[in-house]
Amino acid sequence: MSTRVEEADLFTVARRQFERAIPFVHPLDGWRGMAELLFEPEKTIKVTLPVVMDDGFVHTFSGYRVLHDTVRGPGKGGFRFHPHVDENDVKALATWMTWKCALTDIPFGGAKGGVTADPKSLSDDEKQRITRRYIAALGDHLGPFTDIPAPDLYTDAQTMAWVYDTYSMMHPGQNNLPVVTGKPLDLGGSAGRDTATAQGLFYVFEHLLAMGALPAMPDLVGVRIAIQGFGNAGRNAARIFSQAGARIVAVSDSQGGVHDPNGLTLTHVELHKSETGSVAGLPGTTPLEPHEVLEVPCDVLIPAALETQITAANAKKIDTKVVIEAANGPTTPEADDILSDRGIPVVPDVLSAAGGVVVSYFEWAQNLANERWSESEVQDRLRSTMTRATDAMVTTRAALLDQLDTYRVAWGEARPDSILASPTFRTAAHVVAVRRCRRATEQRGIWP
Ligand code: NAD
Repeated sequence: MSTRVEEADLFTVARRQFERAIPFVHPLDGWRGMAELLFEPEKTIKVTLPVVMDDGFVHTFSGYRVLHDTVRGPGKGGFRFHPHVDENDVKALATWMTWKCALTDIPFGGAKGGVTADPKSLSDDEKQRITRRYIAALGDHLGPFTDIPAPDLYTDAQTMAWVYDTYSMMHPGQNNLPVVTGKPLDLGGSAGRDTATAQGLFYVFEHLLAMGALPAMPDLVGVRIAIQGFGNAGRNAARIFSQAGARIVAVSDSQGGVHDPNGLTLTHVELHKSETGSVAGLPGTTPLEPHEVLEVPCDVLIPAALETQITAANAKKIDTKVVIEAANGPTTPEADDILSDRGIPVVPDVLSAAGGVVVSYFEWAQNLANERWSESEVQDRLRSTMTRATDAMVTTRAALLDQLDTYRVAWGEARPDSILASPTFRTAAHVVAVRRCRRATEQRGIWP
């Protein structure tokens, strides 16, 4: 498990990314107040969760839920089990959910939750009891039109089934399916939800290639891909890219990684992981420490594990043509600057990791209408949503670059330092999202 570095307080990371977008959103008097309104979370909840463990003793866990912004719709965001979970982490993750939903133009705001716990030390029964207690403690802060959870790190469709069941016990006699997404298919889940994050990332990548927005990479066939994390996001990304003709040269999980410059055989990796619990130690491959996967020579690097993995400490050693983020917040602002100076584009999480929430929206819409969409219908809608969002990011970046001098003049002496830098994909993605939230806020008006 990697440790957090000082540059990497997550909410500070989120704030710095936001501040880089602000000069392009608010060349107006009174911008500071509106910027604070757009950035600060609406609601932060901490709950204490006493749970009887399998050994009969009581353990008390801390749980969090943050509703970041609901100006465009109810809060939407996953919840996770992880020992790192704290209020600042959850606030940052909720903030990124707001930008994801706005950039992909789905009618949700941002939310996120988590329980501070080491999932590897918990039995399934213990996870179930913690989940039920957490959902009960949040009570009517959750709801199909207020705040809708989903899976995230170390939570899955089974966890979401417990969420649904707990909420339903508390709200009998109504359609509760839309209160949570990422549910099993038999319980109102959507076709395509389990692979949606990786599939959405792939559609973004494919469209960037088609637009010629990644000049160092004309084609996908044979490109070398390295992936950190081999869970829902990483494992599915490996499979989807490999099926499209790419070569997966390295993967890792929390216990270690494996490297083969000629390309790993994914079926062997999968089998080894299911037999041993880790990709590490696959015969015929070079072993890697978990973080070393980020530094192997490749064309596309996909961080799909945890936050703040690409930092000032390793950004100079990264040997790729493009980084495309599947994890939330894997790259710190310092690392962004280093990669940008080195000419390595970073496709940001708020776009490339948004496929999960987009298909969650499809699940919510199906549940509300009591409908079932086919896999191909879900894929068609996902592809067009991700393509539109990619277009918005790329065209906005081009427009910002064109008008940079105009923005600098408009800001005059008051200009924030960030406007002096050339806008990256991340800044452009934030600009699209924050502009949409700002417009919705102004149209609704500040009440009373
Ligand atoms: P998961 O629990 O299914 O898998 C996490 C993977 O990361 C596991 O393989 C684990 O072993 C690995 N890992 C943990 N620590 C590691 C380390 N130090 N080095 C290398 N690997 C490590 O979780 P997931 O759903 O795939 O989520 C992964 C990331 O993607 C998270 O940042 C999550 O927020 C983000 N994400 C997930 C979804 C989703 O729908 N599941 C959507 C958007 C973003």
